[in-house]
Amino acid sequence: MFENIVGNNKVKTILSNISNPSHAYIFLGSEGIGKFLFAKKFAYKWLCTSNNRPCGVCKACIQFKSNNNMEFNVIEPLDGSIKVDQIRNFIKNVYEKPVESYKKIYIINDADKMTDSAQNALLKILEEPPLYVMIILVGSNEQAFLNTIKSRCIKINFQELSIKELKQYFENNGETINEKFLDIYQGSIGRAKKISGQEGIYLELEECILNIKNLNKVEFVKRCTKDINKDNIKDILEYLNILMFKFGKDNLKYLEVISEINDAIKQCRFNCNMEMVSDNLFLNMYDAVL
Ligand SMILES: [Zn+2]
Repeated sequence: MFENIVGNNKVKTILSNISNPSHAYIFLGSEGIGKFLFAKKFAYKWLCTSNNRPCGVCKACIQFKSNNNMEFNVIEPLDGSIKVDQIRNFIKNVYEKPVESYKKIYIINDADKMTDSAQNALLKILEEPPLYVMIILVGSNEQAFLNTIKSRCIKINFQELSIKELKQYFENNGETINEKFLDIYQGSIGRAKKISGQEGIYLELEECILNIKNLNKVEFVKRCTKDINKDNIKDILEYLNILMFKFGKDNLKYLEVISEINDAIKQCRFNCNMEMVSDNLFLNMYDAVL
C-alpha cells in the first residue's frame, strides 16, 4: 500500500497491520517527510468497499483516484490557521452518513495550526465520534495540541528520512540532489525541495564569506543579506551554522560567530525584525572574522 513512499518503514508496518481502524489518529513528525501522503493512502485503503483493500477498482477507489470521493475530506489552514468556523462546518458535515463507502474520512492537515477554540470544537466530535468516521490529524508541532485532543487520538510518530532515503526519493523522481546541502535538508523532502530551488542564494553566501577579506563591511553585509527573506531566513541561518563549523577548522574566529547565529535563530521564532537580525549578524561576523 505504501510501496511508493520512501522512508518511515516502521509506520508502514504499523498502518498496514491495522485491521480495525480507530476513529482518530494523530500523525506527528517534522514537516516535509510524507505524513500527509501516508494519511491519504491510509484513507484510500479504508474508503475501499472490497475485502482486499485498496482494490483500486471498486467505485469508491475509482472516485478516490479521480479526487471525487465524497467521503474523503481535507481541512487545511486558511490565512495561517484553522479556525473554529472551519471545524463547525466539518461538524455539520460529519453527521451525514457516508453513501459511497462504509467510512467517512477527514484529514486535518497542519492540524497544529488549529486555534484553541477550533480544537475545543473538535473535541466534541472526538469524544463521541459517529461510528463511520475516521479523523487523521497531521502536524509537526506536538506542543500545539491540547492534551485532551492528544489523549483521544492514536499517535503515530514519523521519522526524518536518512540521507540514503533522501537520495532514493530524488532518484525515483528522476531528480538530482546536491550533496553539498544534504546536512541542511535534515531528512525532509519538503525542505530539500524548498532549498534546491534557491541554491544560488546559498552558494553566493558561501562565496561572500570566503571572500570576506576582499570586501568592505558595507559591501559584505549588503551582498550577504540581499536575498534573505522571512521564508528562507531560518534555513539560511542553519546553513550558516554549518559553514561556520566548516571554516572554523582553518580559522577559529569563525567559531565565535556560532552562538550569535543560534541567537538569531531563536529571535526568528518570535517574529522579530528580520532585516535587523540579519544585518547585525553579518556586521558582527565581519568584525569577528577580520
Ligand atoms: Zn476498492
